[in-house]
Amino acid sequence: MACIFLFIFCTWQLERYEEAHETLLLGLQVDPFCHLLQACLQDLERITAGSAKRAKYWKPQRTDDFECTLCLKLLYEPVTTPCGHSFCRTCLLQSMDHGNKCPMCRTVLFISARTYPISVTLNNIIQKNFPEEYAERKSEQESLTYLGVDLMPLFVMDVVLPCQKLSLNIFEPRYRLMVRRIMEGNHRMGMVGIDSSTGSIADYACEVEISECEPLPDGRFYLEVEGRRRFHILRSWDQDGYRVAEVEWVQDIQPSRGTQEIDDLQQLARSAADLAQSWIRRAREAARIGRRSRHLELLQAEGMPGAQDPERFSFWLINLLNLRPAERLELLSLRDTREVHSLP
Ligand SMILES: [Zn+2]
Ligand SMILES: [Zn+2]
Repeated sequence: MACIFLFIFCTWQLERYEEAHETLLLGLQVDPFCHLLQACLQDLERITAGSAKRAKYWKPQRTDDFECTLCLKLLYEPVTTPCGHSFCRTCLLQSMDHGNKCPMCRTVLFISARTYPISVTLNNIIQKNFPEEYAERKSEQESLTYLGVDLMPLFVMDVVLPCQKLSLNIFEPRYRLMVRRIMEGNHRMGMVGIDSSTGSIADYACEVEISECEPLPDGRFYLEVEGRRRFHILRSWDQDGYRVAEVEWVQDIQPSRGTQEIDDLQQLARSAADLAQSWIRRAREAARIGRRSRHLELLQAEGMPGAQDPERFSFWLINLLNLRPAERLELLSLRDTREVHSLP
């Protein structure tokens, strides 16, 4: 660092402001929080402000020094590790999913990349000097976080139905990355199972909403999710190790209002609701006298939706049964609620 100060001093004295400026920027990359370097930069800006040659002085060359060594692109939201290396925040997080060493010098990092602060000064310098490239990097990052309405990141594990609640432990590096992106976006992902008849991911799956997300100190996530809408996968591709799919939503065929069909459907839903309520009463009673613990089922039975929405109610009800994955998969593609209610 002493050499940097000496060089800055010499170039400054010789009025070679451009060189002094670039050296200052380099120094700030090594130590973004150095007050002396920040003060020097401000003084230099003051001296050259208003000068006709200002534009020339303040346009640092777009060199590799502003590049992330992991993605080989302009640094975006840079973080500087204690060993003095700068990376895009997301790139460092991704690297730390595989180990806690600096990707450049292999120094063991005792930091939590998730909460580690962005180097504000370096970020400002990059943003100010390379505004177009920075904007490009920003939209590139946002396109990974905010997918279109018909695009869905996929967690390949099991067949999930609407209204189903479950807890997940996310430990695989590719899914940690996916969850970080989802949590910056709309908190939703698709859960898809493997179709036993084809051995590949099923065509039908369910969107789940992450209602709780607890990041653990070692980088894993504990999630609580609940099934929402069903969808059909039109095509899917790989995105940084996980699957992303273009989907179409499965819409129930609604019987026309005022017809016998809708009356029949609502009647069917009401009688199913009565049956469900009497089952819950009996299960609670059994749990109370300790005959049999139905804790999980009772938990699932909480928040019973009204029978006036037969589609939602039918899926809530079906979750009380212990269906096999192949049976659940079949239900995902049904478009007539009466078929669900007529299941044994
Ligand atoms: Zn990067
Ligand atoms: Zn390092």
